[in-house]
Amino acid sequence: MPAPRFDQLHRQPGPWFVALGGAGMFGANFYLYGSGGEWIAIDCGFALNATPSGRNSVTVPSLSALERHDIKLSAILITHGHEDHIGAIPHIWRAMDCPIYASPFAARLIRAKLDPGLTWPRIHEIQPLEPIGIGAFQAEWIPVTHSIPESHAIMLDVAGKRLYHSGDWKLDAQPVVGGLTAQGRLQALGRQGVDVIIGDSTNAPVAGASRTEAAVQNGLQDAIKPCSQRVIVTCFASNLARLHSLAEIAFDCGRYAALLGRSLVNMHGFGRAQGYLNSRPGYIGPWELGHLPREQQMWICTGSQGEPAAALGRLASGNHPQLSLEPGDTVVFSSRLIPGNEEALARIKQGLKEQGVQIIDDDMAPIHASGHPPQEDLRELYGWLKARYLLPVHGELYHQQAHMQFGRSLGLGGLVPNNGDLIDLSAQPCKVAELPHGLVELQQR
Ligand SMILES: [Zn+2]
Ligand SMILES: [Zn+2]
Repeated sequence: MPAPRFDQLHRQPGPWFVALGGAGMFGANFYLYGSGGEWIAIDCGFALNATPSGRNSVTVPSLSALERHDIKLSAILITHGHEDHIGAIPHIWRAMDCPIYASPFAARLIRAKLDPGLTWPRIHEIQPLEPIGIGAFQAEWIPVTHSIPESHAIMLDVAGKRLYHSGDWKLDAQPVVGGLTAQGRLQALGRQGVDVIIGDSTNAPVAGASRTEAAVQNGLQDAIKPCSQRVIVTCFASNLARLHSLAEIAFDCGRYAALLGRSLVNMHGFGRAQGYLNSRPGYIGPWELGHLPREQQMWICTGSQGEPAAALGRLASGNHPQLSLEPGDTVVFSSRLIPGNEEALARIKQGLKEQGVQIIDDDMAPIHASGHPPQEDLRELYGWLKARYLLPVHGELYHQQAHMQFGRSLGLGGLVPNNGDLIDLSAQPCKVAELPHGLVELQQR
């Protein structure tokens, strides 16, 4: 579409929606909402693209649409602190020069990423369920359960329309760490009327309901209790519930636990600073744990995706400076393999087997839970919200299409957006133009 059409269009009330990342892909979540020439963004993440060597290329959303059309964002609203939602901030926020609104925990994670030698725009800490006005927009953060504390959906009220941006979520009645989904508020929103859900598609092809973190804690305990030698568990660093559960399990199994890997140590520190991790007796230092008998040791490691330089990768290749595995030790994968990392992880598992180490993964025991909604979760939430339309995002085309198909079975209309599609939400959602979009590669890591 030629530029003038958009430049006239977006001066109208809309509201308008465009994904500049996060549609048709996993990662780089960056969603723009506009009305009367005013624009805000929800989330600002990066995407990791695995290579067979286990290295990742990091990409962030291109800002060419903003530059070409002279779009000035009034704010960036953050749903939660995962890298696919905040990871691009250190790289592209200054160019947008607008305030960020985030929960205290997400704000802490963002601040830790910023170069202290540079000046940055302001970060405002939000209070859930307390709407704030940002120009033409009213925004309310609504607590939802996910796999990191302080995850939120954001309800946008703009141009007479009520837009529910789901963020990442699942329904978990026993999340172990953090609060529950604000079911009463969501049901109240449904009674008031929701026009459009812009929603997480990650697990839309999956039947059934979510597994709770409490069930994962039980599954891990059952898997770890019979182990007679050293236990090593790998999981995502940001899953504070899992870190809490593992500390509890170590205590109950007569073991001590330590963290191995920078991202785990950092995330544990951030969690404690926000008051989320207070398990008995907590983690001890690796140097202390290494002196204890093998059967009293439990190590929590980074590297669940097969990263060769992470703690588990170095253990598998026998070159970790603090720890060497021995036959009879057990490695527990309390994690999901992100597609693309298969070869790298197979190399790690081979290295572990060659050392006589036993492996337990989530195909063998209920030791991991996804943070995203399968179909019964979608059915329940959408039943509360009673929206008219759905725009499936946060997933590849396959996940978006499965989400749209499932949404239709629940009576929702809507369409599957691609990155760059300008969608008019003033009535039934329809694509009216296409904006420049793309991803910019940052670095190898
Ligand atoms: Zn997330
Ligand atoms: Zn996400």
